[in-house]
Amino acid sequence: MNAERRHRVATQPAAPGSEVRAAVRRLLSWFRREARDLPWRQTCDPYGIWISEVMLQQTQVKTVIPYWERWMRRLPDIRALAEAEAEAVLKLWEGLGYYSRARNLLRAAREIMTSHDGRFPDEFDQVLQLPGIGRYTAGAICSIAFNQPTPIVDGNIIRVLTRYFAVAGDPKSRAINADLWQRAEAWVQAAAGVGRSNERACSDLNQAMMELGATLCTPTGPRCNACPLRTGCVAFRRGMVDRFPERARPATTISLRYATAIVEQAGKILVQQRAMDAVNGGLWEFPHLELTVGNSGAVEPLAQWLRISSDEFRAMGILRHSITHHRITQEIFAVRAEKKWRWAAENPGRWVTRQELDTLALTGPLRRWVDRQLDWRETLGLR
Ligand code: SF4
Repeated sequence: MNAERRHRVATQPAAPGSEVRAAVRRLLSWFRREARDLPWRQTCDPYGIWISEVMLQQTQVKTVIPYWERWMRRLPDIRALAEAEAEAVLKLWEGLGYYSRARNLLRAAREIMTSHDGRFPDEFDQVLQLPGIGRYTAGAICSIAFNQPTPIVDGNIIRVLTRYFAVAGDPKSRAINADLWQRAEAWVQAAAGVGRSNERACSDLNQAMMELGATLCTPTGPRCNACPLRTGCVAFRRGMVDRFPERARPATTISLRYATAIVEQAGKILVQQRAMDAVNGGLWEFPHLELTVGNSGAVEPLAQWLRISSDEFRAMGILRHSITHHRITQEIFAVRAEKKWRWAAENPGRWVTRQELDTLALTGPLRRWVDRQLDWRETLGLR
């Protein structure tokens, strides 16, 4: 696709005001009839809405519900979050991935306590200044909690808008993304105009756009015949729904291999905590070594690194998972270390019992592996 075509914005200009207002009215009445009953929709508290919006990034609603409910029970308000230990916050987040989001929630709560007297700010620019809060999250909080006409654009809304207006080109490109934000702004401002004073029209409109993308205007098999926007939807009218949104070329995948050791000594296992500013910062893991192309086997380099005889290692299995475009393979081994083993003194970590391991925050894939693979506990006599 040439550059001109790639950056071509819409096949038609933004709909005139009256069309937008009519579409917004249909969307609002559909949402008020059909909205799913989600726990964070029972509140206008910006704190609860903020937590839900951050959890919902990259994560499905059904996964988020139990996390949100547990979080709100343990940390029901900004003060409770601000006073929590980072480790407890990461444990509540365990399994949701993208752990910088949890660390930023904690930082932002502490900042709200010191800079805003513990009250969630209700001005968009102030919300945007908080750690971890970008244009989408600030817009979502201000519209949903405070009913302000602040636009939001996420994956669901990109799908709805690119189909409704038949917007060609990569929606993540700067020009097209800016165009989609403008269209989203026009819609939420139209909602502010059509809603009665006792209605929360901006809040409902943004949620309706997301709801439509999640339930009807889905990536595959959209249910256009049930859609409140079908009469104005250009892609539907032209029979081109499956062409939008256009896809950018996927990033090249990168394969990474690691050799991981579960080292046991006197009934305890060695774990190490990742640096706070690293990917998955603050989470715990077993000592591991990245293997290079020249490493055909995993045991020898691992044994050399840990300075334990390779004969002592027992293979426990392979853990495969992905982070963005990285495909990660971890070969996991169990080994027993002698008392005089020096490596641990030079590479600080924590020796934990099996029960203590369950209280630490691990990455989702490692937690699932640990919980499923009982063998290593048996192999090491840790039942
Ligand atoms: S008519 Fe179909 S493609 Fe258009 S917005 Fe509705 S569900 Fe999406």
